[in-house]
Amino acid sequence: MHILVIGAGIGGLAAGAMLARKGAMVTVFEAQEYPGGCAATFSRSGYRFDAGATVGCGFHSGGPMDILGKELDIVWPAKPEPVAWQYRDGDICLDLSAGRDEILDRFPKSRLFWEEQSALAGLLWKLAKGGLAWPAKGPGDLLKLLRKGFIGLPASASLLKFASKTAYEWLVSHHMHHDPDFVRFIDAQLLVSVQTTSHHANAINAAIALDLPASGTFRIEGGMGAVASRLAGVIEHNDGIVLYRQQVIRIDSVRRQVVGVETSEGGAFAADYVIADLPPDSLARLEGADAASNPEKQPERLWSAFTLYLGMDPLLFRDLPSRHIQVVGSSGELGEGNSIFVSVSPSDESDRAPEGLCAVTVSTHADPARWFDAHKKGASVYRELKDAYTEKMLDVLCEQFPGARNAIRSVCAGTPVTWERYTGRVNGCVGGYPQTSLFGVRGPSTRFDNLFLAGDSVFPGQSLPGVVTGARRTVELLLQRNEKGQA
Ligand SMILES: Cc1cc2nc3c(=O)[nH]c(=O)nc-3n(C[C@H](O)[C@H](O)[C@H](O)COP(=O)(O)OP(=O)(O)OC[C@H]3O[C@@H](n4cnc5c(N)ncnc54)[C@H](O)[C@@H]3O)c2cc1C
Repeated sequence: MHILVIGAGIGGLAAGAMLARKGAMVTVFEAQEYPGGCAATFSRSGYRFDAGATVGCGFHSGGPMDILGKELDIVWPAKPEPVAWQYRDGDICLDLSAGRDEILDRFPKSRLFWEEQSALAGLLWKLAKGGLAWPAKGPGDLLKLLRKGFIGLPASASLLKFASKTAYEWLVSHHMHHDPDFVRFIDAQLLVSVQTTSHHANAINAAIALDLPASGTFRIEGGMGAVASRLAGVIEHNDGIVLYRQQVIRIDSVRRQVVGVETSEGGAFAADYVIADLPPDSLARLEGADAASNPEKQPERLWSAFTLYLGMDPLLFRDLPSRHIQVVGSSGELGEGNSIFVSVSPSDESDRAPEGLCAVTVSTHADPARWFDAHKKGASVYRELKDAYTEKMLDVLCEQFPGARNAIRSVCAGTPVTWERYTGRVNGCVGGYPQTSLFGVRGPSTRFDNLFLAGDSVFPGQSLPGVVTGARRTVELLLQRNEKGQA
């Protein structure tokens, strides 16, 4: 069975590695010269910056990354971090850790909310173990869910009452909506983990997203890109190939069958199956369709990111309990530079920055429309917007770290336009779909019998553990289809 994978993001690599391990011939095409996509680490002027993802999640015992590592004989270069990240909003400063002590000290009335969240998340991690047959593709999947959920874990019936609630309704049920600081805190957590805030986020998605600091976060030695490199290594070790600087420009098909792909280098490759580690609208472009004419219903708001890659004097961050700081600015809605996530390279990784300095990734959610509009209007309008965003983010950083501007040695920015060019995602929409409902979510199947999606547009969505759980479903459906074809 010959499988072509378009894109060496974590979803494509995880699916490719699982299949290569099962004996499939796997060829991965990656447009960039290194793997990882949103979870890559890239070199620039003596620094090694994490492009997007910086916090290692899902590596805890029994977590999706832990299970995948054991299955593929990968020893992840992952070390537990005692404090997942620090949250700062005005005079509120909370270290988010497994015990939630500081959250409970600052918001004592939230105790029952966290007890419920913790119980829900525990169930969800158990349900997700080994993959989730969701969205169900037929009675067989429903039976599997029934067996795993309601028979194997009887307490999971309690999930039903949350399935149609928003996170905000859940806060209301605990009377926590009266505390604006708590709601802003929860909103800031949800925006980075489920791409939307409490009024829109589904309560079940929120329960697992809010569990990340409690279940444990990990530092990936050498930068987040080491995860993708290990997965690519498994594919190569199992006689597969990962081809870099090979952009797939076209998918060739006959009726409901994909027959192969064509690359920018003029190559044409035949396939039994293709896995596209892409959102559906980027895939539509490869099928020759205009993304705008993609018949799939798009959610209302898809975020892109604006990122700063800063070379800095690490003294600014000395004595902090965590290398990650989430800063919420004193004004404005979350995102758009008003809230930022800052990650500093570890002081003991000398290859991450020139001597005496550190590599810092700062990100915020950004609406892509205004960026593409500015880009169309010309270089100076685009540059002005870039400068304005950069200053806005540095202002927010300076609210908590007044010396930040003086500590900066170099600045480089990634806009939604950069993210589109870099990841191949239409409008640079990184982060996956906002997790507003468990129903109507996207599975890996496409209109072609032998083409499947992987990555964070597939349920359960964004993050390393999210895309790895989704990739398991991709592999499961592909193997089912193959068995059916052979029967
Ligand atoms: C700013 C930011 C911060 C984040 N922080 C975290 C975090 O701290 N922790 C966490 O767990 N998650 C985080 N995430 C989310 C996580 O990074 C993503 O959900 C995940 O990495 C997405 O993986 P993917 O498989 O969907 O592929 P992508 O990362 O989108 O990769 C797709 C790959 O396909 C390649 N490609 C695209 N088109 C083609 C083509 N035509 N031919 C060949 N190659 C192609 C691209 O070059 C790219 O390498 C963050 C994301 C962002 C943007």
